[in-house]
Amino acid sequence: MPILMYHSVSDRPNAETKPLAVRPSTFAEHLSYLKESGFTPLTMAGLAALLHEENDRSLPERPIVVTFDDGYADFHREALPLLRRYDFPATVFLTSGWVSDAGKDAAGRPLDTMLTWSQVREAASCGIEIGGHSHSHPQLDQLSDHELRQELWRNKALLEDRVGTAVSTMAYPYGYSSVRVRREVRRAGYRAACAVSNALAADRHDELALPRLTIAENTSMKLFSRAVEGSRVPLIYLRERMLTRGYAVVRRTRYGLRKVRGLV
Ligand SMILES: [Zn+2]
Repeated sequence: MPILMYHSVSDRPNAETKPLAVRPSTFAEHLSYLKESGFTPLTMAGLAALLHEENDRSLPERPIVVTFDDGYADFHREALPLLRRYDFPATVFLTSGWVSDAGKDAAGRPLDTMLTWSQVREAASCGIEIGGHSHSHPQLDQLSDHELRQELWRNKALLEDRVGTAVSTMAYPYGYSSVRVRREVRRAGYRAACAVSNALAADRHDELALPRLTIAENTSMKLFSRAVEGSRVPLIYLRERMLTRGYAVVRRTRYGLRKVRGLV
C-alpha cells in the first residue's frame, strides 16, 4: 500500500523547503485522483491498528496513507482545507521543538514558519492524526542512547500533553533509523514508524520501518499515478532507493567510528 510523504504545501516555499514542496493546486489534483481511483485514505494509526489485526480482510479496498513531515504552517493554511474538502484523513508528523509557539521547549532550527499548538489542535479536531517526528529533528541514528531516548520521549510526551490524544506513530527525521533506533522507538510506545526509502509498503516490511513515497515539486502527475498504482515503480524512485540502501551502511559505519572515539 502506498504511504505518501509530503512536506510543505505552498506556492511560495522558501529556498530550503522548495525541493520537497508541492503547490496547493497540485496537491488538490493528487487528492482528486486518489478519490476518483477508489483509494481509501487511512491515518498511520488507522493503518497500524489494521496491520495488528489477524485477518487480511480487515484492510479496506486500495488503502492509502497521506503524511506530512515537520509541521509547516502551510499545512493549516493550504493542505487542511483541501483534505477537508475531499474528506481525507491524514497524518502530520510533528517536530515538537519547531512548533512556532514552543516557548521554553523550542529546539533545533525550523526550516520555515511552523504550525502553532492551537493550529495543531484544530487539525487534530478535524480528524488529522498527529504523530511524532522527534523533538529537535536530529539524525537519530547518530545520537547517543541517552540523547536518542530524550528526543523520542520528549516529543511524544509534549504532543500528548498539548494535543490531548495518544501518539502511536512516528516518522524518522531524514528517514534515518537503525536497529538501535527502532528498539528505542518500540520502547517509547510507538506501534508504527515511517522511513523514506521510496517503495510501496507491503507485508514483508517491519512496522517500525514502513517505506514511504516522496512526493515533491518535481513529481509529475504521471509519476504520481504510476507510483501510487504500484504497477511499475518509476526509475527515479529505484535510483533513490538504491542510494538510501547504500547510505545506511555508510551511516552505521560513521556511528560506529564515533562510538569508538567516545563521541557518542
Ligand atoms: Zn522532517
